[in-house]
Amino acid sequence: MSALLQIAGLTAHYGDFQALFGVDLTLQDGETLAVIGANGAGKTTLMRAITGIAKVTAGTVTLAGEDITRLPAPEILTRGIAMVPEGRRLFPSLTVEENLLIGAHARKGNGHWTLEKVQALFPILKERRHNPGTALSGGQQQMVAIGRALMSNPRVLLCDELSLGLVPVVIKEIYAAFPRIKASGTSIIVVEQDIGQALRVADHVHCMMEGRITLSGRPAELSRSAIHDAYFGVS
Ligand code: ATP
Repeated sequence: MSALLQIAGLTAHYGDFQALFGVDLTLQDGETLAVIGANGAGKTTLMRAITGIAKVTAGTVTLAGEDITRLPAPEILTRGIAMVPEGRRLFPSLTVEENLLIGAHARKGNGHWTLEKVQALFPILKERRHNPGTALSGGQQQMVAIGRALMSNPRVLLCDELSLGLVPVVIKEIYAAFPRIKASGTSIIVVEQDIGQALRVADHVHCMMEGRITLSGRPAELSRSAIHDAYFGVS
């Protein structure tokens, strides 16, 4: 089986500061992968390097056999990688529905995700469709951000720290939608500091520390102590 997304030797810098050191990662079609790690491990930078926002200084990103390294961010989105950014970044002057429709600008041809399908996934978004996006609760805003990304009909959905600032019951509600997203054929990478959540949702987990992948495996294969060492370093 050839990989949907193949990341090889990926290195990224902010000026002179090196944030990623030769990261290798493979996402198979239909798979959900979680990247875990402490603050500053490089998880967001990895997502930003994949989506063309962070500066890639070495290595490659290949989507369905095509090299997309260093393509402009809008082109990468059109080719099928959509990101739910940390902090959601909704457009404050637009309604919920308008925020969702913005995501559709990047879609190429037809696909599974329509406004109706997104509203069926998160019914509150239909109920609140005329509200300004920012008048919603944090969890509802996160649903808009996920819905907006899905509206581009991505082959790969990248989610950066969905749990951040949300109470456990809301986190659970949001992740309850993931089996349906997966069933639609969208492959997923979630970045999480919440290890328990990552282990529940993912087929494969990668742990990062200081810009490197320090541990990879299926959730059932990874012991708590191995995760602890890969996450915090062995003291
Ligand atoms: P967090 O959970 O805090 O988002 P993270 O694992 O996503 O952490 P990154 O945000 O990717 O980590 O940061 C990796 C490293 O790059 C950190 O040392 C951080 O300080 C640095 N960094 C991130 N963004 C920038 C930037 N815009 N300019 C300079 N350094 C940055």
